[in-house]
Amino acid sequence: MRILVTGGAGFLGSHLCERLLSEGHDVICLDNLFTGSKDNIIHLMDNHRFELIRHDIVEPILLEVDRIYNLACPASPVHYQYNPVKTVKTSVMGTINMLGMAKRVKARILQASTSEVYGDPQVHPQREEYWGNVNPIGIRSCYDEGKRVAETLMMDYHRQNKVDIRIIRIFNTYGPRMAENDGRVVSNFILQALKNEDITVFGEGRQTRSFCFVSDLIDGMIRMMENNEAFIGPVNLGNPVENTILEFAEKIITITGSRSRIIHQPLPQDDPKQRQPDITLAKEKLGWEPKITLEIGLQRTADYFATHCIRG
Ligand code: NAD
Ligand code: UDP
Repeated sequence: MRILVTGGAGFLGSHLCERLLSEGHDVICLDNLFTGSKDNIIHLMDNHRFELIRHDIVEPILLEVDRIYNLACPASPVHYQYNPVKTVKTSVMGTINMLGMAKRVKARILQASTSEVYGDPQVHPQREEYWGNVNPIGIRSCYDEGKRVAETLMMDYHRQNKVDIRIIRIFNTYGPRMAENDGRVVSNFILQALKNEDITVFGEGRQTRSFCFVSDLIDGMIRMMENNEAFIGPVNLGNPVENTILEFAEKIITITGSRSRIIHQPLPQDDPKQRQPDITLAKEKLGWEPKITLEIGLQRTADYFATHCIRG
């Protein structure tokens, strides 16, 4: 198939492009290189079935493809809050453009939505039918509400124009090629640990997250795109193993054998207190569940950062 991956030069997108090429597909990576980088896809550049198009999805484009994975959007709080208006435009105008293309060329389109649609959840763990608890006017809203509208657009194009859609809600995912400067907890803690610097736990560190290794997530994403049971989602994809951020910092210190100390910094506004996916639906409909343990995933990620960021 001819497959378009928007945001293909980013963390998840680059792993997806790599996987789709290895399965024999033609892959077009479309990216404006805001948070992504050519370094993430340099190893794919001399594959004749791979193409990079530097383009912003806020502007229309027409490509003849069979599948569209719509991943383009900054994902870390530091990056999506850098230009919040642009973040909303990317989720809203960008998703309209990709849906318009899907409608025109009759491609199936998958939207990378997020656990952030549940906001600071009052239901735990989060199931797909929960409508969430999102602040519409806070500093995370440009991302959370943008992604919620993107889901709405997907459903409306499906009902109104019969576009073939799939929606996945991705929970915190980590692994090699996370941007070292994007402020996400995994990259921050691993880099701090490798340099024996203080580990910056925000608040008391009692907030929880559940971390999924990238290879597991990509596996779930492709299964969802290619399931032919007319199951359109939304479906949660994530690892249900939940840790407090403090426990997580301690695990990273142990795995890296670091001499770092844990220090506390102020908790950012609207930081969700708990997050854990209920993946019953993904298990039932896709036969999917994560396989990589946190220990193995963190070790692989630490090895990547040690090679690419510390030793240069
Ligand atoms: P990332 O920042 O590494 O990748 C996003 C990519 O999109 C980058 O390459 C960036 O340059 C590109 N991009 C941003 N705006 C664009 C635009 N207007 N036009 C074209 N390209 C644009 O982030 P990621 O972690 O790889 O996330 C990929 C997708 O998955 C995002 O949509 C994100 O919301 C979603 N997601 C990720 C996670 C996670 O834990 N990694 C969790 C939930 C959802
Ligand atoms: N966090 C932290 N120290 C850091 C970076 C993040 O304690 O240096 C916390 C953050 O407050 C949040 C959790 O780790 O509670 C996950 O943050 P991240 O930005 O990775 O993802 P998100 O909040 O979007 O889940």
